[in-house]
Parts: sequence; C-alpha cells; structure tokens
Amino acid sequence: MALKLFNTLTRSVQEFAPLDPAGKEVGMYCCGPTVYDYAHIGNWRTFVFADLVRRTLEFSGYEVTHVMNITDVEDKIIKRVRENKTTLREFTSKYETAFLDDLKALGCREPHQNPRATEYIAEIIALIEKLIARGIAYKANDGSVYFSITKYQGCGCHYGQLLKLNLDEMRAGERVASDEYEKESVADFALWKARVPDDGDIFWPSPFGEGRPGWHIECSAMSIKALGETFDLHLGGEDLKFPHHEDEIAQSEAATGRPFVKYWLHGAHLLVEGKKMSKSLGNFFTLRDLLAKGFTGREVRYLLLTAHYRETFNFTLDGLSGAKTALARIDECVGKLRVIADNTTAAPEAKLVEQFSLALADDLNMSAAWGEVFKWVTETNKRMADNSLNASTAAASLAAWGKMDLVLGVGTKGEADVPAEILALAAARTTAKQARDFKRADEIRAELKAQGWVIEDLPKGIKFKKI
Ligand code: AMP
Ligand code: ZN
Repeated sequence: MALKLFNTLTRSVQEFAPLDPAGKEVGMYCCGPTVYDYAHIGNWRTFVFADLVRRTLEFSGYEVTHVMNITDVEDKIIKRVRENKTTLREFTSKYETAFLDDLKALGCREPHQNPRATEYIAEIIALIEKLIARGIAYKANDGSVYFSITKYQGCGCHYGQLLKLNLDEMRAGERVASDEYEKESVADFALWKARVPDDGDIFWPSPFGEGRPGWHIECSAMSIKALGETFDLHLGGEDLKFPHHEDEIAQSEAATGRPFVKYWLHGAHLLVEGKKMSKSLGNFFTLRDLLAKGFTGREVRYLLLTAHYRETFNFTLDGLSGAKTALARIDECVGKLRVIADNTTAAPEAKLVEQFSLALADDLNMSAAWGEVFKWVTETNKRMADNSLNASTAAASLAAWGKMDLVLGVGTKGEADVPAEILALAAARTTAKQARDFKRADEIRAELKAQGWVIEDLPKGIKFKKI
C-alpha cells in the first residue's frame, strides 16, 4: 500500500509520490533547533516525528536526503549572547553539541546535512538580491530590507497557503521587524535587519549595508541550496506554520518562480502534565532532566512515538514509567526468542511485517503499529509457553522485529552488539539465498562490509563480526 501523509498545503491526506521521476530519491527538510538553550521535550516530539517520517520513507524503499538546519543567528540568540557577554559561536556551539548528543540519545538517525545559518550568509544575500531585482523586496527607512506582501500578491502569488489569513484587515505599509509575530499582524517581514547597537559584533557586510538575516530567509536559503528550488517534504512543529513557513514559501516562490515544497508536514504540540510547558509550573523538561530522573532516551522515544503526530499529546512522568514497563515486555520476549533461535537466521515473518507496514502507510498510524507489536508479543509468549516455536520460527519472528525496529528505533535492551539494521540485512541475504538469487546475496554481503560487518555462515546460523 502506498504511503499516505497529511499535507498541510492541501489540508488532506495524500498518497506520497516523490518528485524524482524514477520514484526513488526524496528530499526532506526539517526546521532545526534555535540553539539558544537546551531543547525541551516539546521540541523533541517534533524532531522524533521527523525521524519517524525519514525512517518510514527509508523503510518504504526511498533514498532520503534529510536536511536539518541549525538556527545559530536570530533575535533570541542575540539577546542571550548580549546577556551572557559571550561570542555568538561560543554561545551557540555549546547548545548545538548538546542538541546533537540528545538526538543520538533519542535514537534518531543523524540528518545527512546540518547546515548552520551563519555559514550561508552569501546564499541568503543572493536570495534577497533576487527579490529586490524582482521588485518584491525593498529597503525601508530603518535600513532593513523587507518582503512586500502587496507586491508579492500583485504577481499573482498567494500569501496564506498553509492557513487562512484575513488579509483584508491588513493595513497597507505596515512592517514587522521581529522574527516571531502573530497572524493578526500580517505585515511585510524583515529579510535583512540593519545593524543596531544591541547586535554588538554580530553583523555581516552586504550590498544593503551591515546587518544580519531574518530567521525566515535563512531556512529558504539553506533548504534550496541543499535540496534544490523544489523539493519533496518540509517538516516542523505546528507553531511554525505561521509566520515561519508561510514566509518561507513566499520568499522562495517569489525568488525562483517555482513551487517550493510538495508536502508540508506539521507535528502537533506536546503538553506536559496537561499544561503548556513553563518553568514556573515546574513542568518544563529537557531530555537531560529526564535522564537525571533515571529514565533512558529509549523510553522517552517510545513514549513520544505512541501518539499520532497530528494529535496534541500529553506527556506525563507516569506515562514515562509506563513506557519502561512496555519496553521491558518487548525486551523479555525478544530475549527468549534469541535463546530459542540460537543464532539461526530466517526471513522475517511476512504477515507481521505487512500488518505493521499497513499501519504506517495510513498517515503514520502509530497506535495501530504498536498494536501489531504488542499483539505479536502476546502471541509469541503464548507460543513459547506451549513450546510451539522452533529455532527457525523464532528466527523469523526475531527478523520481523528487526524490520519493525528499523522504523521504531527503540532496539532491545542488552542487545548483542549487532544493530537491528545489520540483522535485517543479514535476514534479507538469507531470503535471497533461499530464492537462489546469489547475485543479490553477494550485494548484501558487500553492503554489510561497507557498513563495517563481516558475516560467516555456520551450520547453526550466521556469525557476525565487526571489522
Ligand atoms: P525552536 O528551537 O524554538 O525553533 O523549535 C524547534 C522545533 O520544536 C520547532 O519545529 C517547533 O515547532 C517545535 N516545538 C516547539 N514547542 C513545541 C511543543 N510544545 N511541542 C511540539 N513541538 C514543539
Ligand atoms: Zn525553518
């Protein structure tokens, strides 16, 4: 079944079809962290959601280029750099490193590119120059360059593609300089902000004068550079629909004259203990706070992946304890299966993987996907209790878990050092050999080697060795 996803642009669930005529390559951009503090558990819901989308696409056979930027210059960052009397790079690098460490701890696959906004100033300037040349951007009295919504609309373009905006209430000539604003104040927004004393030494020379980029243009420049003028998927939390993503569409489409993104995916927000997170309510958690309470990244990932991405999710510490129990059930089942399989390998149980795939294809229906996993745990426990599993059926069951975990990414506690992806490749090789497709079997062996693993066929099964 083809993968279906909810596209904010069309307000409907659509079958995913990549732009690549060969139907193979997919470009995906997720707005990354603004590195002015440690990312909180709400941010992590969005980044784990992006990881789920990427893994699901890869599971479906696509070759994904996953780009996630690092916003390392923006209003909030500059304020903090000033308050902390430090330099921009020193300040942001601390939070960037922490972010990338946390991403790993949560079992997220590393994006293929993590462009930093400050390293794309030339591309940002070139994009603004294009907008000025087309008469859509202008320099105002304050020395900053703004995007003119009226001029943009005058070219027949549509402002308000991701959500309905009441543009009639807009007052002509109004401008907004800050990166974040409400939709009630739709106005020309800043592309290049002229240097002011509060910026300290955070500024770059440009044809429009010294200054720094606005937040929205940063993402347009980085995504276009990495993925081209039109690409497949753009993701973020729901709060980014306006103004950030709406402005990204306007700038990009005005500059290139082409549609910017085919599918816009937005993750719903996370509440903590039923409320919006806030330090004063004591419900504000970073991943580090949760690790300090004795939870693991794996448990947090599991909990974040239990909810549907378009529904608000209530994160609780009780829920996190429940995650521990749920994962322990999987670990116990997998541990027992390993004993029975005793190094035997087999092709994954097809029916189980198929049911799981169907759930995912249905707009990432995670409750149905986990439902399949836990049905499998219950049935496997029953089969083990009545001794009806032999080494090869246990191996097929384990291989199916390996396949499902390619998407879930929770692994198994105390797992032998062989990662699930390597186990799944070895199982695919066994299937190829059984089908006498020795060419494919050799290709997989080479692929395993490229990933740092050699395998040896023994009478009892496969032995894995790390190179
Ligand atoms: P920021 O670092 O503020 O730019 O945010 C990074 C990502 O986290 C963005 O995609 C936001 O939409 C997302 N985000 C912020 N708060 C929450 C929340 N409470 N729940 C889910 N996602 C959030
Ligand atoms: Zn962005």
